[in-house]
Amino acid sequence: MLFRFNQAFLNISFEWYIMPIDLVCGMKVKENSPLKSDFKGKTYYFCSEQCKTEFDKNPLKYIR
Ligand SMILES: [Zn+2]
Repeated sequence: MLFRFNQAFLNISFEWYIMPIDLVCGMKVKENSPLKSDFKGKTYYFCSEQCKTEFDKNPLKYIR
């Protein structure tokens, strides 16, 4: 019981940690999202078409 609980907790934490962030609005995004852009060899994910368009217009504004 306790083991299962810990396991689930770890899985959630891990997933939360590896989830990419939408740099435009700061939301966590699922990695299988079709809304993504490649920029300088890195892939960036977005929550919506609007955020992706915004990023594509001026990627350097969002990359630090
Ligand atoms: Zn967004």
